[in-house]
Amino acid sequence: MKRHTWQRDAVRSALDTSETFVSAQELHAALRESGTSIGLATVYRALADLAVEGEADSLQQEGESLYRACTPGSHHHHLICRNCGLTVEIEADEVEQWAADVARKHGFSDPQHVVDVFGLCANCASA
Ligand SMILES: [Zn+2]
Ligand SMILES: [Zn+2]
Ligand SMILES: [Zn+2]
Repeated sequence: MKRHTWQRDAVRSALDTSETFVSAQELHAALRESGTSIGLATVYRALADLAVEGEADSLQQEGESLYRACTPGSHHHHLICRNCGLTVEIEADEVEQWAADVARKHGFSDPQHVVDVFGLCANCASA
């Protein structure tokens, strides 16, 4: 059975309001600030659940897991600013084609891939 608790919903909507990747601690602090009393461990667990279910993207940075709301059900990639964490969801037909081709060439079937592109966003590059 899927656990749909209010804590999970609170974490999900806090994540929705952020355009950048955030850590569990940051999200926890934001929730507390808005008057939601929720434990840090619960935030960790909810984020991990959301990531497993494809409703959040996770990313490892300097040993810490960062999360961002992700559009579920549609395959896409991310363009991530390595300075401020701004994330843009992108579709890339060339990547889909390349992944299918390279898998076939090596005799692999049912290929899947994760491709995120890191760089500096226009704001950070001009700062
Ligand atoms: Zn996404
Ligand atoms: Zn940036
Ligand atoms: Zn793809």
